[in-house]
Amino acid sequence: MADTVLLTGVSGFLGGHVALALLNAGYQVRGSLRSLGKADHVRTTLAKAGADVSRLEFVALNLLGDQGWEAAAQGCRYLVHTASPVAARMPTDKMELIRPAVEGTERALNAGLKAKVERVVLTSSMAAIAAGHDLARTTPFTAADWTNLNGRPVSAYVESKTRAERRAWELMKAAGRESDLAVINPAYIFGPLLDEDPGTSVGLIARLLKGGIPAAPRMILSIVDVRDVAAAHAAALSGANAGGRRFPMGEGSFSLMQIGDILRRRVPERADKMPRRELPDWFVRVLALFDRSLRNITGELGVIRRLDSSDAIALLGRKLIAPEEALVASAQSLIAQGLA
Ligand code: NAP
Repeated sequence: MADTVLLTGVSGFLGGHVALALLNAGYQVRGSLRSLGKADHVRTTLAKAGADVSRLEFVALNLLGDQGWEAAAQGCRYLVHTASPVAARMPTDKMELIRPAVEGTERALNAGLKAKVERVVLTSSMAAIAAGHDLARTTPFTAADWTNLNGRPVSAYVESKTRAERRAWELMKAAGRESDLAVINPAYIFGPLLDEDPGTSVGLIARLLKGGIPAAPRMILSIVDVRDVAAAHAAALSGANAGGRRFPMGEGSFSLMQIGDILRRRVPERADKMPRRELPDWFVRVLALFDRSLRNITGELGVIRRLDSSDAIALLGRKLIAPEEALVASAQSLIAQGLA
């Protein structure tokens, strides 16, 4: 019988791709949903993507509630915890992001530890590695780096991911199981959509394709393809050397103007929608007084952060998909789904 993986957040952009990678690798997947009402949609979506959904089952779990976690983890050999709130807009109360991230990690890992899963793979983020540091740093960030929550102010999302990952390592250490946790730390995730929900990161490409960003703030992104991030989750489950480690994943540093230039060239039918000029930083800071969605980025304008992805490349045994291909795949699937 196939090994069962409890996968939280199966309805998400990344969660769907992780489910696909795990099903394609032969696992039985127990995917968690906030509400079982989404089960048919997720099953149909994964079947359309070519997965054998006879090995897919669902459980209802909420990051903010105790109900169901222990039963969900029973009989599972592995736990993959991807669920966490991702928001483009800063909430008025930062705990709206931090509580589900941290408490959800506690619930997932405690249930996994109680069920004696062999390995836990946690989706963290570059946000837990590279924020709060000297803005002038040019050397790539590695697995040894941690976001500094006591330095320059960071967004609620950055704090949520940093505190959640810290908590995961604490819990595993307290259980004497540190070497059974593998953490994936992706940069900005793009790539093909499996369904019609663009999510937060691909939502940025949707805005560009619709002409919603006529002038671009100097926001600079390191990029990774969702297919690589999903493959890394699957590889980290079984990889002999993956336990006890963090895997930063992200390549290049692309400004929104450069992303616009790539899409102008590769998706020529939307060329006229791409930003035509870059906004001065002072102007973005003024706009952020009125537009909450800009507040996450005002401290980041023009800041370049590079990631050292060499450990993830070794884990996968191949190069990462080029950022340009991840961007184009997002754009093409948005257009194909009629979302842009
Ligand atoms: P997404 O599409 O918004 O998926 C988030 C998932 O978390 C959804 O399945 C969502 O369920 C679930 N979730 C949120 N709050 C929940 C709650 N209270 N209880 C139960 N489930 C809850 O986001 P994503 O981009 O795929 O992100 C997935 C993971 O990757 C997150 O841990 C995120 O921090 C991390 N990550 C993302 C990026 C990126 O650029 N996208 C980069 C680095 C790391 P519903 O469907 O019910 O909302």
